[in-house]
Amino acid sequence: MQINLEEAIRIAYQREFEKMPKQHSQRTPDCPPISAYLHYAVDGWPEELKAHATNCIYCQKSLAAVWSATDHHPSEADINNPNYENKLAVERHLNWHGCESCAGKVKK
Ligand SMILES: [Zn+2]
Ligand SMILES: [Zn+2]
Repeated sequence: MQINLEEAIRIAYQREFEKMPKQHSQRTPDCPPISAYLHYAVDGWPEELKAHATNCIYCQKSLAAVWSATDHHPSEADINNPNYENKLAVERHLNWHGCESCAGKVKK
């Protein structure tokens, strides 16, 4: 199960990188391993990673990729919260991945 999800994340990444090959370099030494994002999508960022992850393009992109590759999507409350910590990931998830189910949660 876990391996399948990680594989799904990898595929989601690959699709992104095919579209935008120059974005590899956004990963920083502070970013966690790719397999960890799956847990963060479910449990939220750990305290020690929060300050980094909410402002890191790579971490936000990774979170958005997990949402798009798995059943773990942001809640309606999160999506409509202007102060949501993963706002960048939501924007990416909606605009880049084009998640229809989350687009339906956006209050106009
Ligand atoms: Zn990061
Ligand atoms: Zn979604």
